[in-house]
Amino acid sequence: MSHHHHTHAEHQHRHGEGCGHTAISHEGHTDYLHDGHLHHVHGDHTDEHVLGVGEANRADCTPSHACGAHEKAHTHGPGCGHEGVPHGDHTDYLVAGHLHHPHAGHCDDHGGVQTR
Ligand SMILES: [Zn+2]
Ligand SMILES: [Zn+2]
Ligand SMILES: [Zn+2]
Ligand SMILES: [Zn+2]
Ligand SMILES: [Zn+2]
Ligand SMILES: [Zn+2]
Ligand SMILES: [Zn+2]
Repeated sequence: MSHHHHTHAEHQHRHGEGCGHTAISHEGHTDYLHDGHLHHVHGDHTDEHVLGVGEANRADCTPSHACGAHEKAHTHGPGCGHEGVPHGDHTDYLVAGHLHHPHAGHCDDHGGVQTR
């Protein structure tokens, strides 16, 4: 599984400055976080983007990561209050400007994202 490039035909909302969704910088363009998806407005449609696994956003296990941005007992998941971010083949959660990946009772640090 590598790069998604399909469209939301049913997508009514047009993302843009001040649309209410979190905008992030991704490889030189702006995407919007929307229900755990990374949406990129492209002409008259919306593309699905996924953060690549690489130098800036590794998919490593970091069991000693304890940034204190949330309670230790907090488990990320749909509706947990953090925004889901697609990263490689999994979903991370945006916490204090970086990606948290829930893993075996701790949060892995999958690197920073630049919000705008
Ligand atoms: Zn939006
Ligand atoms: Zn993108
Ligand atoms: Zn881990
Ligand atoms: Zn953290
Ligand atoms: Zn969470
Ligand atoms: Zn990740
Ligand atoms: Zn976390």
